[in-house]
Amino acid sequence: MTHYRITSLRIGELHLPHGGGIMRDPIHCWLVRGEGVNLLVDSGMAEVATVTRRLKVNGTRGGHQALREELAKEGLKPEDIQYIILTHLHFDHADNLDLFPDACVVVQRAELMAAIDPVPSQRIYYWRSTIDNLLARKRPGQLRLVEGDTDLLPGIRLLYVPSHTEGMQVPVIATAKGLVAIASDLGDHYRYWFPADPRATDRPQRSLTGAYLTGNIRSESERVWQAAMRRVQDSSDIVIPAHDFRIPVQIPEQWFAIPDSTDGDIAHHPFVETP
Ligand SMILES: [Zn+2]
Repeated sequence: MTHYRITSLRIGELHLPHGGGIMRDPIHCWLVRGEGVNLLVDSGMAEVATVTRRLKVNGTRGGHQALREELAKEGLKPEDIQYIILTHLHFDHADNLDLFPDACVVVQRAELMAAIDPVPSQRIYYWRSTIDNLLARKRPGQLRLVEGDTDLLPGIRLLYVPSHTEGMQVPVIATAKGLVAIASDLGDHYRYWFPADPRATDRPQRSLTGAYLTGNIRSESERVWQAAMRRVQDSSDIVIPAHDFRIPVQIPEQWFAIPDSTDGDIAHHPFVETP
């Protein structure tokens, strides 16, 4: 059995208006290393100045330089990456692809269609820079469009889970301790997965015991989204959300299903931005 090691690469932050305060969301890519294979799950957001200009939200870092720096900390260069699995094509998950001309980008065919013809509420999240890069990948080895659940490599299975977007996929990756689902925006903070558990959220919702919290940015119904989260949890041992500050950095060395406490979950705490 092939086992992989996963490192969470934090390439920046977005500071999003949320309930009168500012929610800080870390932006992650995941470096997955196995026997002779280096791959990325998601390629992150553009430089924050570009994001601010286009979406009027602030943040930090992002772009090629941040991604290069985080890879360098792991002793790697962009050309060492052989595959890039994109969970979906939103701007904070699928930019920077031009840094990896020789990697094979793996995305659901339905997600490419969603990016070209989005549901209206998601038009601002799908950027031309992503679509242009995918269309420019003319060599067969540069782009692989998959349809439905797919065994990509030994120990790496892609689950097709329309929910947040029409072509959402969640990679489930074998490690020495068990199966890790990189859940991305299917549940981007621990509180979405464990909405009634006080370790996951400082605002537990007992009415949601045994169920999930689903997001507002969605292409599918709540029922479909709930079933998608159930399937991901049933198919894995731990779930890694996209934008929680508490996510483990080294997996499987750091291994927990639910964080010990809400400490470090600064999503709900008012944050004053320094200009
Ligand atoms: Zn998204």
